[in-house]
Parts: sequence; structure tokens; C-alpha cells
Amino acid sequence: MAAQKRIGVYPGSFDPVTRGHLDIIARGADLFDRLVVGVLANPEKAPSLSPEERVELIRGEVKDDPRVEVRPFEGLVARLCDEVGARWILRGVRSEADLTTELPMALSNRLLGKAETVFLPARAELAFISSRLVRDIARLGGDLSPFLTPRVAREYARSFRKA
Ligand code: ADP
Repeated sequence: MAAQKRIGVYPGSFDPVTRGHLDIIARGADLFDRLVVGVLANPEKAPSLSPEERVELIRGEVKDDPRVEVRPFEGLVARLCDEVGARWILRGVRSEADLTTELPMALSNRLLGKAETVFLPARAELAFISSRLVRDIARLGGDLSPFLTPRVAREYARSFRKA
């Protein structure tokens, strides 16, 4: 019998995807046979980009890695895990504050489904980055290069100007 594939789901809003997220994706891809990046289509916070734009920005960065799949999703992460056959949920932890919100989510997801949450500590030099910070700096016309890859920075600034 073929060994079961180890599939992980990395859910988030990715509004927009930052160097911190991409680092978690690269390190997470090494942990699993397949990593599904789930882009939350309708987060409670009004997103600055549409789900399709957020998905495309991530795809542009991971297209050379066949282990990574990017797709939009709505609703429960536990349901997405069931759909794609994932037994693990991947989350990045930047600080104690992140853990305070992540731990109840991890415990809830364990009750809602079968997936176990795996936490990866943020890379120290990227731990200050959040999509929120990027949105604020973009709105004020600041340089996004410390936070975003050149391609994401270019496309994000363009879509931001259109809005
Ligand atoms: P949410 O909207 O649920 O906060 P995000 O899209 O901001 O989701 O982030 C998705 C995941 O990526 C979360 O686990 C978050 O902690 C993690 N993350 C966000 N920024 C970074 C970063 N700079 N380094 C490592 N992990 C991060």
C-alpha cells in the first residue's frame, strides 16, 4: 500500500502576502509532501485586495515549487482540511501575542476536525512584518521593499493606486 501523503494547510488572509508569509511557506513546504495555501476569501476585516488578486500574488511567488498549491477558501479551516485531505494546519508565530490568539484557534480546530496545528516561529528578522503594517505604509506611499518581494511590491502598489 502506498504511504499516505502528508498534506498541510497554511490558512490566512494574505492581504497582501509578505516576506514573512513566504518564509513560512518555504519552510512549511519542507515539512509536508504537499502544502495547500488557503486564502480566506471573506475575512471579517475588509480586505484591500480581492481573493483572486491575493491568490495570484502568492502563485507568482511559489510557481516554481510543485509542492505548493494556492487556492481561495471560505468558511472553516477544518472544512478545507477535510476537502484536501490535510492532517496538519500550519501557522506562523511572531510573538506571544500571536500565540494568545493562535492557541484557542488550534484547540478549536482540533475539536472541529482532525487536523493538528503546527507552529513555526517567525524568522527573527521578519517577525515584525504584518500585512496590516504593509497596508498602512502603502496607503501613506512608503517604500514596501523591506516587507514584500519586488514583484509583490510592484503589483500591490499598482492595485493600491487603482483602488
Ligand atoms: P490572519 O489574517 O489570520 O492574521 P495572516 O494572513 O495575517 O492571517 O497570516 C497568516 C499566518 O501567517 C498566521 O499564522 C500569522 O501568524 C502568520 N504570519 C503573518 N506574518 C508573519 C511573519 N512576518 N512571519 C511569520 N508568520 C507570519
